[in-house]
Formats: sequence, C-alpha cells, structure tokens
Amino acid sequence: TTNGIVDALVIGAGPAGVLVSTLLHRLGHRVQVVEQNHFPRFSIGESLLPQCMAFLAQADMLAAVSRQGYQFKNGAAFAKTGEYEAFDFTDKFSDGPGTTFQVPRAPFDQVLAQEAQRQGVLIRFGQRVESISRDQGISQVQVTDKDGNVDTIAARFVLDASGFGRVLPRLLGLEVPSDFPARKSVMTHIEDGIDDPAYDRHKILITVHPQHADVWFWLIPFSNGRCSVGVVGEVEFFKGYHCDDEQLLRQLIGEAGSLATLLRHARFDTPCRSHTGYAANVSRLFGEGFALLGNAGEFLDPVFSSGVTIAMKSATLAAEALDRQLRGEDVDWQAVYADPLKQGVDTFREFVTAWYDGRLQHVIFSRNKNPEIRRMISAVLAGYAWDESNPYVKEPGRLSTLAELCREHP
Ligand code: FAD
Repeated sequence: TTNGIVDALVIGAGPAGVLVSTLLHRLGHRVQVVEQNHFPRFSIGESLLPQCMAFLAQADMLAAVSRQGYQFKNGAAFAKTGEYEAFDFTDKFSDGPGTTFQVPRAPFDQVLAQEAQRQGVLIRFGQRVESISRDQGISQVQVTDKDGNVDTIAARFVLDASGFGRVLPRLLGLEVPSDFPARKSVMTHIEDGIDDPAYDRHKILITVHPQHADVWFWLIPFSNGRCSVGVVGEVEFFKGYHCDDEQLLRQLIGEAGSLATLLRHARFDTPCRSHTGYAANVSRLFGEGFALLGNAGEFLDPVFSSGVTIAMKSATLAAEALDRQLRGEDVDWQAVYADPLKQGVDTFREFVTAWYDGRLQHVIFSRNKNPEIRRMISAVLAGYAWDESNPYVKEPGRLSTLAELCREHP
C-alpha cells in the first residue's frame, strides 16, 4: 500500500543515507529511508576524518556521537621498516575541526540512524529495494521484506545511498570499472594487548610491508582495548599464500616488523572478513529523478580513510541540490552536485595514486618537510579535500614535484 508520494526515497541507512535524509527532513521535505538490514549490522570503515565532524554538526548529530565514548583521534601515523612519521590533524592548513573518532561501525551507524529517527526521519528496516521504474516524473520503487512481502513506494526523487550494494548503478546499467587495480583486504577485530608506552592510540597507524611497498596494514584502535586490523594488497599478491584468512592475516602481520612487535600479545577472537575488488565507479552520478551518493557512486581505496567523509560530503551536496529542485528551481546537477563532489574525490584520487606509485611515501617518510607544506598535506589527510585555497587541493599534481624534492633531500 502506498500512502502518498514522498519527496525523496533514500536507499540505505549508512552514513550517506542517514545524513541526506536528515538534512532534507530538516528542510521540510517528506523523506522515506529503506534499509535492507536491521541495525546494528557490521560495516567496514571505522576511522573517521575530522572533516566528518563538520557534516555531523550540520545534521545536529555531533552531540550524540560525542557522548558515545568512542576512541579520540587526532591524526595518522605511518610506519615502514625503521621509519615512523605522524601527522597531527590539529596542525593543518585548512579551517575546521582537527580531531575526530574511530568507531566500530555497527553501533556508530545505529547511533546515526537513531538520531535521524529522533528528528523525525522515517526509516523502514529489513526492507530491500529490488526494482525501480519512472513514469510522468514519479519513481515507483519496489521493496521486499525477508518474508517476500512486496510494497511499492512512490517518490519524486530517489537518492541511492546503498554503498557497496550499488542498487541503481546495477539496475540502471551505470557501472564502469575503476581505474585502480583490483585489491583485496583481509581484516578482523582483535583484543590488541598493546603494552608499548610509545604507541599513540590517538592515531590510525598505517604500516607498509617491508618487502612490498604497495601492501599495507591498518591498525585502528577503539576505546575498549580492541583494534580493527587489516591488510590490503593486489589480488595477485594474495594468490601466493595458500591458507585461510586468519592464517593469512597473522602471517602477513608477522612479516610486518614493528607491527608484529606491537601486536605480539594480541588475541584473535573474531572471524576474519575479506573484501575483494571494492574500487568501483559509475558513468554518471545523477539522472532524471535520481542521484548516487557515497559508495553507491565511486569508491577509491581505503588507505586515507576517506570513504565516510566522501559519503557525508555527497549527502550535504545532494540535500542542497534536491532542496532547491523540490522548491521548483531548475537545478543543474552537474554544476551543483557532480562537479563539486568530484573535485574533492579527485584530490583523494591523486593522493591514492601517489601512495601506490611511491611518490607520497617519499613525501610522508621524508624528514625534511617544509612545515607549511606539511600542514597542507595534513589538511588533505584530515579530509579537507574540498578546500581549494590549499595548493595541494587546487593542484594535487604538485605532489610529483614535492616527491622529487623529498627524493633528492630525504
Ligand atoms: P554504507 O555505509 O555501505 O551503507 C549502505 C547501506 O545500504 C547499508 O546499510 C546496506 O545494508 C544498505 N543497502 C544496500 N543495498 C540495499 C538495498 N537493495 N535495499 C536497501 N538497503 C540497501 N571509510 C572510512 O571513512 N574510514 C575507513 O577507515 C575505511 N576503511 C575501509 C576499509 C576497506 C577495506 C573498505 C573496503 C572500505 C573502507 N572504508 C573506510 C569505506 C567505507 O566502508 C565506505 O566508504 C562507507 O561505509 C560508505 O558509506 P555509505 O553510506 O555510502 O554506504
């Protein structure tokens, strides 16, 4: 049964879906979110960037998030055989928050969803979007629950925030391959047992494999003595290892020098998960009556923890654009949504490319960084990839010149 036409139907209640629906609801529009799971549910992507805090504040969710006792985060640290470099996000070029949290996503996403509901957003959990059609300016979206009950929701506009579900890219044939090679990650949560007094729990730790510069590990501490730990490499790299995911992860950590030492007392008490070929792209981010948000659009790579930040940024841009359209304005989605979103995504794209081709690792591990340039890099790593007053945002290709300098004067 349909009870009228909603202004916006949002697919997925992850960070992108919850943010966009809350912002639109606050602007007075009728929004319906459909989420296939019941929360809490597992999701990958636990290290937030300070830029996220500004978006959470826009949706009036910052106080609720800050109350949860999540692990405080003020930077990113990088380690490679014998080398260690830490970026302090409070010492950065761009304005805005310099600290954030590292969050187990199951409870975090639930807190955001509950905050949205508290503000009046309608979320249907346990319902999966299966198909969509559009006629005379109205989309008919078919949803199914686990018992096979089917319902149809009519909406003026559909915002796809289905993450790796990529609902509209699949249904509308918009998927295109990513430019990045297929990579795989194996991860789990551990009781970390870290007793090294020099270990800084306020930072994500990225460790480069001593023999393979394109293989790296994340260590994301939580506030309860546990960590998320994972390894990332090209799919081909993993084919050389013939063991199950947990043995693989433990063996690779064992090969990782300082990380192995740090985690020597760790207890692996949770089944490992693996994600393969997660980099994805689409031919376009919007069309008649729809837009793609967060991971349902493009996903680059996890190395700089940019996923949730990009998801939330897309939500703020889409909410603004759709608000204007619903008020009767003629909105150019390319100009007000796709281009501005792409600008920051392209900054991260250059950083990710430079990480894997070695340029950025030269910059990061160079002892000889100019303090002002360091603050510019720190701002991008903190998520301020849309601040075009930062030269490394305006022209991310500058990383090449900088890497050359760092190579010559390490
Ligand atoms: P999601 O959070 O994935 O939410 C999508 C929601 O849509 C889900 O709840 C899903 O159940 C629902 N859904 C899907 N299909 C349907 C359907 N048909 N009908 C109804 N509902 C549906 N990001 C970071 O910021 N920090 C990190 O440290 C980080 N680490 C990562 C590590 C790895 C290995 C990978 C692969 C990614 C990582 N990311 C990280 C990225 C992060 O996971 C995503 O960018 C982020 O979760 C995207 O948010 P979203 O709202 O777009 O989608």
